[in-house]
Amino acid sequence: MVTTSLPADRLRSTLLGGAIGDALGHPLENLNLAQIRAAHGTEGLTDISPLLITDDTQMTLFSFEGLMLADVDNEMSSVYNAYRRWLATQEQGQPSPGATGLAAQEWLYVRRGPGQACLTGLRQTDHAQVVNPDAKGCGTVMRAAPFGLFDHSPDDAFLLAAKCARFTHGHPTAAVSAGVLARLVSLLTRGHDLNDAVRECLRLLTYDVPSAGETRLAMREAVKAARQSTPSPEAVEMLGGGWVAEEALSIAVYCALVSDTAEEALLLAANHSGDSDSTAAICGNLLGAAGRKLPETWAATVEGRRTIDRLVAEATGSLN
Ligand SMILES: [Mg+2]
Repeated sequence: MVTTSLPADRLRSTLLGGAIGDALGHPLENLNLAQIRAAHGTEGLTDISPLLITDDTQMTLFSFEGLMLADVDNEMSSVYNAYRRWLATQEQGQPSPGATGLAAQEWLYVRRGPGQACLTGLRQTDHAQVVNPDAKGCGTVMRAAPFGLFDHSPDDAFLLAAKCARFTHGHPTAAVSAGVLARLVSLLTRGHDLNDAVRECLRLLTYDVPSAGETRLAMREAVKAARQSTPSPEAVEMLGGGWVAEEALSIAVYCALVSDTAEEALLLAANHSGDSDSTAAICGNLLGAAGRKLPETWAATVEGRRTIDRLVAEATGSLN
């Protein structure tokens, strides 16, 4: 079995941070900055209830379940099977009779903007097949945090996330950016601080990973922006819209680096013209992995909280 030695609270905060960011960004995904300010004031959205998650968190939970159920050396097929169960949640109205685990949970059968590449890629029944060769949407990154949460080395976490990105997105940048998020989560949950973890990933991208140019550039831009700019939506938008993998990673890293509190980082990552739910979800994963204190009310009330608690209990063997 693939195991995790991380404490339950760190697993939980990584998943919860992502879910909170996803839910904060959800109502903003299709609004530009002017529309966000017209709807929510100059500060943008600062709170919302209920906090409803989207496909980003749904797929992240299935990544986690796929890894948790895997045997060592068959992680890829176990994650693929988990993503096929996610696909069924998007194509069937309700759980099949006899379904178990996440596939048995009716609340996951709601469709909240699933990505086209994720849907079409997973409709292929052979996971060795190349799919969507030009796709580099952020759908690979937003689901990749769990790859850093099990007992794989940071390098193996990178590789697994990058390989599993290919189930849906064929562009190398989609794979590399997903690998970087997994590696960052792996390093953060093992005690590195964010600056250190980002530096370590940049070193890897410079010397050891082919086809890493776009991701490396986007990460460098995030670090530069965090040094030079005052946090603002305009500074976020200089990094792009986050619809593609490397920009989503870059925005999430920038917001986590530049903010003093988790609340500030999550709101910065959500309030911009781009792919708000994904950028804020990825940022939340980083904050939770780093052990930053998540706002309590959001953590207690975000949709899926009970499911996250149960998955973490199963993964750590503390389920009664
Ligand atoms: Mg989404």
